[in-house]
Amino acid sequence: MAVSDHVDLATFIEGVRRRNPGQPEFAQAVQEVAEDIFDFIQDKEQYHKYQILRRIAEPDRVISFRVCWEDDKGNVRVQRGWRVQNNNAIGPYKGGIRFHPSVTESVLKFLAFEQTFKNALTGLPMGGGKGGANFNPKGKSDNEVMRFCQSFMNELYRHIGADVDVPAGDIGVGGREIGYMFGQYKRLTNEWTGVLTGKGLEYGGSLIRTEATGYGAVYFLRNMLATQKDGIDGKTVVISGSGNVATHAAEKINQLGGKVLTLSDSEGFIYDPAGISEEKVNWVKDLKNKRRGRISEYTKEFPGSEFHSGKTPWGVPAQLALPSATQNELTGDDARTMVANGCIGVSEGANMPTTLEGVHVFKDAQILFAPGKAANAGGVSVSGLEMSQNSARISWKEAELQRLLEDIMAGIHASCVEYGGRPGSKVTDYVRGANIAGFKKVADAMLAFGVV
Ligand code: NDP
Repeated sequence: MAVSDHVDLATFIEGVRRRNPGQPEFAQAVQEVAEDIFDFIQDKEQYHKYQILRRIAEPDRVISFRVCWEDDKGNVRVQRGWRVQNNNAIGPYKGGIRFHPSVTESVLKFLAFEQTFKNALTGLPMGGGKGGANFNPKGKSDNEVMRFCQSFMNELYRHIGADVDVPAGDIGVGGREIGYMFGQYKRLTNEWTGVLTGKGLEYGGSLIRTEATGYGAVYFLRNMLATQKDGIDGKTVVISGSGNVATHAAEKINQLGGKVLTLSDSEGFIYDPAGISEEKVNWVKDLKNKRRGRISEYTKEFPGSEFHSGKTPWGVPAQLALPSATQNELTGDDARTMVANGCIGVSEGANMPTTLEGVHVFKDAQILFAPGKAANAGGVSVSGLEMSQNSARISWKEAELQRLLEDIMAGIHASCVEYGGRPGSKVTDYVRGANIAGFKKVADAMLAFGVV
């Protein structure tokens, strides 16, 4: 194809929507990447000729399966499970498993697509995948969760392996669920391999895996601020979510001298003008992980704080923000409010928490804005290190892993700066930088393989 015959961006996106009907999240994720890649590959004929972006936006395979289980009352329940294997050009498929009633094929395809770029950015040899089920772990007993996880693995085990596809946790899947799934995998295959990451420390897990995503998102924020000779110390911060990513981001913000004002869950957000200190964060971790309670309970424990039912925290004025709950939780209007309130830096702990309109608001305002595929890559990075430790039958010490995590986040930041420069702007376009750096690595590997 001659360069002049290339389809334009709008035609490309229309094709993605046509081929993936009813999958808006997937089309949104592809569009966010394509906006930058079209510009980058304009004069690079080989990427056009070999249809690289079109191929990355078509998963290698999507596996969908029935998951039956029995609840505690003896009722038979039926859920749908998936594994999306997006691209394994640079390593085995790698990406989390999500259990949440909102899980659909579209959500998992967007996550697997994003994961492909994120994993490339880490510099570790990992391809992109994602999986999950429309199962709601909330309100379920331990035994119900165990039976569900076992049934889910009864099908999934055929499609994964230490050199094939290595799942991890995500929303609704933490240490407990990984334990049940790993136990069932081992039982079915009679094999101990590093087939899942996020494992318990007693059976091959890596130190700091639990903390890595939240800590990494804060390190990325610190790296962005450093380019403006600024830092986190003394700044106010709004955070959404109260799960793994949100609580560890809050912990690290406290350690670096920032003041966390909010946390949230799917029912609303809490605002604590006195600041959510490390001690209070520990209370939230206990509430969420052990008692499996709701964030609204915070106000009973800590007087002076407020609960805002059914709302997100973006109206609370703060200098920094870490959206760390779920996709599309921060809209264009939210972004405009934040910019008007003096927000100078946003680091996405969650995957695609900002709508496309919101992303454009942040970009136009030229604030420091880190997309999830760069900012939240700390978790999968330590997962990659967990895979290495399992293969080598070793376990690294915490200090070594902390150093590696900080190094990897600094490397991702440097890649974004390399490819995200904007003429006439003092601020790096981190979205563009992350998209191009991630794309280039995967694309060049694909070129080496020819048409497969
Ligand atoms: P958790 O399950 O530990 O926590 C999720 C949090 O987000 C909970 O507070 C939950 O509230 C809230 N939440 C979930 N769905 C919604 C919704 N539809 N509306 C409002 N709030 C919601 O998950 P994680 O902390 O692990 O994941 C959070 C985000 O970070 C996700 O986007 C995930 O993909 C991303 N991520 C996670 C990584 C990890 O290592 N865990 C790695 C990289 C990215 P509630 O309890 O009410 O459901």
